[in-house]
Order: sequence, then C-alpha cells, then structure tokens
Amino acid sequence: MKYLLLLLLGLLPAPKAASPVTPVPTHPKNIILLIGDGMGLTQISAAVYPGGEPRKLNLQAFPVTGLVKTHSYNKLITDSAAAATAFGCGCKTKNGVIGLNHKMQPCTSVLELAKAQGLATGLVVNSHITDATPAAFLAHVPERGMMEDIAAYFATNSLDCLIGGGQKYFEQRADGQNLYQKMEDSGWQMSGYKTTSLQNTTPNPAHPFAWFSAWEKPGTILDGREYLLEATTKATSFLQKRSEKGFFLMVEGSQIDWACHQKNAEWALREIQEFDQVVGAALEFARRDGNTLVIVTADHETGGMSLVQSNKGDKVDVEFNTGSHTATLVPLYAFGPGAEAFNGVYDNTKIYQKMREALQLQDVQPVKN
Ligand code: MG
Ligand code: ZN
Repeated sequence: MKYLLLLLLGLLPAPKAASPVTPVPTHPKNIILLIGDGMGLTQISAAVYPGGEPRKLNLQAFPVTGLVKTHSYNKLITDSAAAATAFGCGCKTKNGVIGLNHKMQPCTSVLELAKAQGLATGLVVNSHITDATPAAFLAHVPERGMMEDIAAYFATNSLDCLIGGGQKYFEQRADGQNLYQKMEDSGWQMSGYKTTSLQNTTPNPAHPFAWFSAWEKPGTILDGREYLLEATTKATSFLQKRSEKGFFLMVEGSQIDWACHQKNAEWALREIQEFDQVVGAALEFARRDGNTLVIVTADHETGGMSLVQSNKGDKVDVEFNTGSHTATLVPLYAFGPGAEAFNGVYDNTKIYQKMREALQLQDVQPVKN
C-alpha cells in the first residue's frame, strides 16, 4: 500500500515494462499433415517399447496433443476412405466413399481450397497414390476401388507434387488414355522407379512434379522400400519454392495399416519407425521455417493392438484382437503457429475446419472432372 502511494505520487520509479516478446503467429503459411494409417496409441507405444530401454520418439517433441473420434456417417468403425473424407473435406460420409458427403455430393478438400488460394499442394504416400487416404484430398467418387477414375483427378492442375505408387492407373487404363503422357504434355515433370531413383531427381519448382514409386502397390519396408523420408524432404523444399504464398502437404505412412491387418508386429514396428523419422524431418523443416504447422494423426486404429507382458523377461509382446479396424480414439499431435487449436477431444471433421481456419481458406466449388 505504501509502495502504491509512493508510486502514485511519483516518488518511486515505475516498474520496468516486460521486455517485448515476439508475438507467435496463429496463422501459419504452410501445413504439413502427416497421417499414419492405422496408427493408434498402441502402435505408437509399440515404438516406444520395442524391447530393451524405452525409445524417445520424435512424436514426443510436440507441445499440443488431442484425441480424435473417428466414426463415419454410417459406421462406428470407419474405413480409410470415410476417415480421409472427414479430415480432408470436413464431412462425415459412408465407408468406402471418397470426397463426397453422405448424400453423394462432392465436398471440397482442404488441398483444393489451398490450391484455389494460390498455395502449392503435395501428396506423398507409400501406398498407390490412388488409394483411399490420398484420394480423398483430390478425387470425388462413390467407391474407393475406382482407381482409374481417381487417377484422372490427379492429372489436373490441382496438384503440384505427387509421390507414390500406382503408375498403372495412369498408363494402363480401360479407357485407353495415357494420363502419364498427358501430364507430361501439360508441363508436369514426370519420372518414376522405372527410370530414375528419387535421390537423383531434382525437380524444377517452375513445373509440377511426379515420381512414381511402383507400378501398383509399393513393396513393404521389410522388402527394402524406404523412400518416404527422402520424399518428404524433397517435397517440402520443392513446395516452398513453388509458391511464395505457402503450401499444403499431406504425407501418409500408408502401410502401418497393412501390417496390422496382417497382424505382423515386426512389419508394423518398422513402418512406424520410418514414419517417426518422417515426423522428425517435418519438425526440423518447421523449426527452421518458423511458419509451418505440423499435424500428425491417424485415420483409425487397426488390429486392436495391445502390448502385454512377455514371458521372455521384462519385455512386451504385441497382440492383435482383430484383422480389421477398431473404433478407438486416435491421438493427434500439433506443432507450430496455430497448434493450440488442436488441443482437446473432437471429431475428425474438426481437423479439416481447424486447418482451414489456420490457413484462412475461403470457400470454392470442388473441381469437376
Ligand atoms: Mg491409407
Ligand atoms: Zn485398413
């Protein structure tokens, strides 16, 4: 009280103002969305406790975490198509549906909105690029198996960078079209596993860029497939140069799901470990750049995986309760400007809304093919 009185009378120096703090921007320029297909909390835990000492994952560096409800419009247990339509396009739909709402009307994806606003866009996967998760960011078809129809959506100008398998659906088509050639003719830099390795590919940011990793499905990591890290690094630096307005990139660790469907713990662990390296690379980019929001999540859990006491010393054994997906909530991790919005428990459609708000994306109509 006495201090306050003296202060008011001007007899004491006023306390120093806090030193200016650089305000943290809430609107990033770029978003990197990393999807571990089938990667529930137990899959992540399996990578923390693979045997011996607990491992520290790159996922532990994220300041914000959330939990995501994954049910689809018609099922409590989603598939990858409905889940990717939810976080890619913001609408709950029926299992098996790509980029359409439950009334079968097209819904615009965050990637399409980003593109319409001048951002560069990319999809990087280690499945075929026409598989459900990447497809829902660009295609609008009623059935996830319509690979050739999905491929046609990629052969437009909505995308700047494509890395994944499934070259067949562009070249060897029932309609006789050669979309690979068509893309090349319209200015795309086309290459693939047949002619050049990704390491030896230096895309020019003046043109869109595609590299195919396989004719159909890429091999597993146990067979020596491991391009996702290289692809992510290449895609981020390419997209950064491609548009000064920013970029939206989705990277999928596609085969965590495939391994868990097969109840193959060793395979799953190796895929998760690769995916965590990709997470590390995205974080490194975001830390350097300072204007990138990194989001890591899953479309659903696969396998009902649990970690139980091993009878071989102080170890855990992986057990699977099913060869299908489960309804368990999946974790979400966020880092960078706008990350705080991802704190809490919410529906997968909210991921779309939060990404739109972060990038301040306006409404546009979906691209029709
Ligand atoms: Mg997938
Ligand atoms: Zn699956």
